Amino acid sequence: MDLSISDLFMEEWCPEDKKTTLDNMMEKGLIASSCMCPECGSAMKIQASQRSLDGFSWECGGYTLVRRPKQKPKRVRCRKSVTVRRNSFFSQAHLSFRQILIFSWWYCRNLPLTEGGLAAKFSLTSVTDWTSFCNEVILNYVYHSNTAIGGPGKEVEIDESLFGKRKNHVGRVVEGQWVFGGVERGTGRCFLVPVAKRDRETLFNHLREFVLPGTHVFSDCWRAYATIFPELGLRHSTVNHSENFINPATGAHTQTIESLWGRAKKSLPAGRRQSKHFTTALAKFKFFNKIKRNRGDPFAAFLEAVKVVYDPGVAAQLVFDHEIDADD
Ligand SMILES: [Zn+2]
Repeated sequence: MDLSISDLFMEEWCPEDKKTTLDNMMEKGLIASSCMCPECGSAMKIQASQRSLDGFSWECGGYTLVRRPKQKPKRVRCRKSVTVRRNSFFSQAHLSFRQILIFSWWYCRNLPLTEGGLAAKFSLTSVTDWTSFCNEVILNYVYHSNTAIGGPGKEVEIDESLFGKRKNHVGRVVEGQWVFGGVERGTGRCFLVPVAKRDRETLFNHLREFVLPGTHVFSDCWRAYATIFPELGLRHSTVNHSENFINPATGAHTQTIESLWGRAKKSLPAGRRQSKHFTTALAKFKFFNKIKRNRGDPFAAFLEAVKVVYDPGVAAQLVFDHEIDADD
């Protein structure tokens, strides 16, 4: 892959000069642009720091009162120092902003991450770690921003699909993960949720959560539970894939979602269509698919997600830490 693209991009965005980089990071909201001293509560100031990898740190110029037995309290300089990375995506790392951003850029371009590691001058361990950290951002972002689709006058196709592979050639034992999903015709807005069970309750709960009342829903699955649709204020048309791709009586079809499934499956590496990595892969598909649809810049969108997940003003509370599945 062409390294010069990422180099050029980074030169403009995250140059070698540490002060410009710091200003950029603050301006983009990726690190905090102000800091209160955790010791004395004074507003801290940015100062050049030889010890810091970033060349700067938050320094406290405030005073604290030190109480002493049988003497007047003594007023002393606080001198507390805080990393500019506090509470950010970059905290705890011994890698430069530039290195992390270069790696994230490769991650967002869906390019081989071992090559991304080379471009970012990462160790193999760092490649593994930062792949996880990037995955965490996507997972946390996607599952916090899962919004309902459809509504009056809108058409939504729903389906369920097994992501996985047959265990043997006979094809009787199937390992994998069931996914319930829907896609809005015309806009391509979608939701995808891994489901542990395929029963009435599961369908009811997910439809209530993700499909707005008044929607015309098309499906070929869940026919046994068709009474759910009127209960939720949804109109429902059935298609039967085993007979006709398009129901000749009603004209109902689910081609939109069939094509979504196809792309989702193709984007998931075979080994990751099951197992604990599944939720991550699904979230990545949903996240990057939306950007592609809107012709957005995946890297810029990723950094927006970083900002949402790691609000540098607040300690991050991740729902998904490393590769823990949404459904376990
Ligand atoms: Zn202080």
